[in-house]
Parts: sequence; C-alpha cells; structure tokens
Amino acid sequence: MAGKIVINSERCKGCGLCVVVCPRKTIVISGISNKNGYFPAQTDNGDCTGCAACAVVCPEAIIEVLREGSGRVIVAIEPGKEKKPTLTKEKA
Ligand code: SF4
Ligand code: SF4
Repeated sequence: MAGKIVINSERCKGCGLCVVVCPRKTIVISGISNKNGYFPAQTDNGDCTGCAACAVVCPEAIIEVLREGSGRVIVAIEPGKEKKPTLTKEKA
C-alpha cells in the first residue's frame, strides 16, 4: 500500500513524536523554523505506507494521511477531525 502524508508545517511544534513513531523513518525535523519559531517535521514520503501512526500520535492533529490503491486516493485521516485511522472520504 502506498501512502502519503501532508504536514501543516506552520502549525507544527516540532515535538518529534511523528519522527519516532514512523516505522518507515520517512519523517525528519527540518533545520528551518516556521513562523512560530518551531522546527517542524517534514517528509519526502519515501517509503510511506499510509499506516497513519504519525497522524494518530500528533498532539496537534495536523497530519493528513492519504492512501493510494486501485487508482484512487483515499483520505485516511483529515487533520483536526476524526483522528482514528479510518477511511473518511475519497479525494479527487
Ligand atoms: S503514515 Fe505511517 S509510514 Fe507514512 S509517514 Fe506516517 S507513520 Fe510513517
Ligand atoms: S507529531 Fe505533530 S507537532 Fe509533533 S513534530 Fe510531528 S507534526 Fe509536528
């Protein structure tokens, strides 16, 4: 299963929990601070599976998780809303 995440870096507080929990080690902490002075998480989505562990652990609920399959992209977690790793809607 291929996956992808989108991090709202301007709201990230750089706690690093997502970095620690990611089983594929695809998230790192940026060396460039955001407007609030935090060094945010960033990713190239290299080996992301869409497992959603990062989004579930994020205390700020700012990670969107997308899963790809059969030519479709599914939003698994929508930031600030349902935090359980359940499929919520299909993305165009
Ligand atoms: S969805 Fe899973 S594999 Fe992808 S970045 Fe988050 S924790 Fe890592
Ligand atoms: S868990 Fe959330 S707040 Fe913490 S570094 Fe990751 S994205 Fe930022």
